[in-house]
Amino acid sequence: MSNLIPPRLRDDCFAMPQGVEWVPVDDALERLRAALAPIAQTETLPVSQASGRVLAADCIARRSNPPRPNSAVDGYGFAHAATGTGVQRLPLVAGRAAAGQPFDGAVPQGQAIRILTGAILPEGVDTVVLEEDCATDGAMVAFDGPVKPRANTRKAGEDVTEGAVALTAGHRLRASDLALLSALGISTVEVFRPLRVGVLSTGDEIVGSPADQAEPHQIYDANRPMLLAMAAAWDTVPVDLGHVRDDPTLIAAALDRGAAEADVILISGGASAGDEDHVSALLQSRGHLTSWRIAMKPGRPLALALWSGVPVFGLPGNPVAAFVCAAIFARPAISLMSGAGWAEPLAMTLQAGFSKSKKAGRREYLRARIGADGRAEVFASEGSGRISGLSWATGLVELPDEALTIQPGDPVRFLPYQGFGL
Ligand code: AMP
Ligand code: MG
Repeated sequence: MSNLIPPRLRDDCFAMPQGVEWVPVDDALERLRAALAPIAQTETLPVSQASGRVLAADCIARRSNPPRPNSAVDGYGFAHAATGTGVQRLPLVAGRAAAGQPFDGAVPQGQAIRILTGAILPEGVDTVVLEEDCATDGAMVAFDGPVKPRANTRKAGEDVTEGAVALTAGHRLRASDLALLSALGISTVEVFRPLRVGVLSTGDEIVGSPADQAEPHQIYDANRPMLLAMAAAWDTVPVDLGHVRDDPTLIAAALDRGAAEADVILISGGASAGDEDHVSALLQSRGHLTSWRIAMKPGRPLALALWSGVPVFGLPGNPVAAFVCAAIFARPAISLMSGAGWAEPLAMTLQAGFSKSKKAGRREYLRARIGADGRAEVFASEGSGRISGLSWATGLVELPDEALTIQPGDPVRFLPYQGFGL
């Protein structure tokens, strides 16, 4: 498995049919999904180091859980067949059965044994009564019958049986999964290597670091730290490709570095079709560009290209638009390429805590959060220059492509940041 060569994407994989002016969000997502494939390599890791990784192969249980029938409680065990209705008094055998200390012998019918949680049921025992329901003097145990057969016991393999598929390929391992795999005797897993996501900012006005001096006509690079953090939150390895001016030679050099050091590149700025949109022009000439004009607000242009075979997402320069486009388009695409399959955002229906009317023809994403009354509040300004709204928000309200008038109390679709892994 680890020698597999990842499939290469076709040069024209992002092509849109001729004549399409504005691409609805759902069409764009569908095309992206169809164009992409898992490209991450695989490796074998100890389970203890595999948290956050995506399984590249199914995990098969090496033993059953539990491996043998055992007691679910502290109490007294016996054969059910020898008990009946009314007060039961059974002589106790010497010794006891405890977790990790199995009873070495058989319990005769009509007798009982002291047994503790997790202890394998000794031969002759199929039923356990809870110690709180018993009286004992050390020689006898008494309890009220009837008792249900196999009460307070766990069957071998009642959770998972040996040979069963415990987790399937494509599943991202979480803490709870490490418990399951370990319980099933699985010590190593075949996983995808994390995708390396390169992040590049472009623009003559951009100052790469907030530690540097900015002139009045300059702005600090907000997109790169944001996109690097998003890439990290998506369990990829972020690769900082820095910031370059709007110079095709510099952008090309940065993309070359990205193609060598990353599996996917997120580039922001310059992706429209204006005079200074060198990213579009460059990708057009050398990167098999398809510029998708997506019918959404914010963030209309989305440039998709291959640079030396590496997929490039040309995101809008505006940080609010870059954030939304990355969450809506780059995240599921990166998840698919990582081997974890297409990732749908988590959505919940909330009552609107606002009013709004929108025209038909484009989907809208509003910076939103859940108010004290449980309703979805939206940020006071829809201006996409308002970066503070991204921090104010805890998610996005997604309004459908159709025309719509929303009154307070109407249901709206809320996509929490957490549902994007953010
Ligand atoms: P562009 O897509 O290059 O035309 O940029 C659109 C807007 O986003 C302009 O106002 C840019 O100054 C701004 N912008 C572009 N890149 C960044 C960035 N990395 N950080 C903050 N703002 C940016
Ligand atoms: Mg620019």
